[in-house]
Amino acid sequence: MYADLHIHTTASDGMSTPAEVVAAAKAKGLSAIAITDHDSTDGIAEAIDEGIKHQIEVIPGIELSTLSGDREIHILGYYPDWKSSLLQEKLAFFIEARQNRAVKMLEKLDKLGIVVSVQRVEEIAESSFIGRPHIARALLENGYINEISEAFTEKYIGRGGRAYVERFKLNPAEGIDMLLKTGAIPVLAHPGNLSQGPPMLEQEIGSLVVSGLRGIEVYYSRHTAEQKSYYNRIVRTFDLLVTGGSDCHGYKNSANSLGTVRLPYKYVEALKSEKIKKHYMVVKNPDIGS
Ligand code: AMP
Ligand code: FE
Ligand code: FE
Ligand code: ZN
Repeated sequence: MYADLHIHTTASDGMSTPAEVVAAAKAKGLSAIAITDHDSTDGIAEAIDEGIKHQIEVIPGIELSTLSGDREIHILGYYPDWKSSLLQEKLAFFIEARQNRAVKMLEKLDKLGIVVSVQRVEEIAESSFIGRPHIARALLENGYINEISEAFTEKYIGRGGRAYVERFKLNPAEGIDMLLKTGAIPVLAHPGNLSQGPPMLEQEIGSLVVSGLRGIEVYYSRHTAEQKSYYNRIVRTFDLLVTGGSDCHGYKNSANSLGTVRLPYKYVEALKSEKIKKHYMVVKNPDIGS
């Protein structure tokens, strides 16, 4: 039995609906998948319903982008209390900040003579979540670029690029804290593949562990064999959980398509035990120290 614990859907910047993701997981012979959209849990309910039909276990999750100085660090949260108002209020704030930021990026593009309408970007987004990939698709549609990756350069909306606008981001400790407070198990996403800067090293990961980090996404579609063994060693040093996932966004012929990481199911069991332990501690907490 195998799992893919890092998947995006149309609820954030993925191309496939949650139901399509579940069907694809079935076709790939996976037993379990985690839906880990950026800043949104809106894809989870549909995936769970579809999972029941196909006998695919759907693990609720989320991915937060945090900012440490100038560097982006992504934190996955598994088993958040995804229906809780505390989590939903925080996510609503992120989604609104994203919408305002998208408008600002379109204004910057406009000043450069690159015209893309807000309305079209919203249509492409299909949900209230607007990310740079949706703007990139509009740029492609209007013939400004020849492929999506071109949008993510200095010329357009690459980080620090001419029309880039930073969006609201927590720092890693705040992100981990938010996940812990909403019942989630915080796991460091793709430490060897940061969009900005070199791979994360032991000391930096140690400081996240102090903040409450509980696991590392050791098995990642773009991690090298050396990186996998390096992060496995850090897992042992800090007694962390191991996870793995493709980070599939549903793009055709992509290197990180669904199921490119097949995580043995024993790691899902360990994650589940951690959630149960965490829940038990929260329930029992009032007694501690009294
Ligand atoms: P945002 O969260 O709106 O800043 O957009 C970040 C998202 O853009 C990531 O989650 C990826 O899905 C996508 N992305 C980032 N860099 C690239 C790239 N070079 N090519 C294609 N997609 C990218
Ligand atoms: Fe993404
Ligand atoms: Fe990520
Ligand atoms: Zn991701």
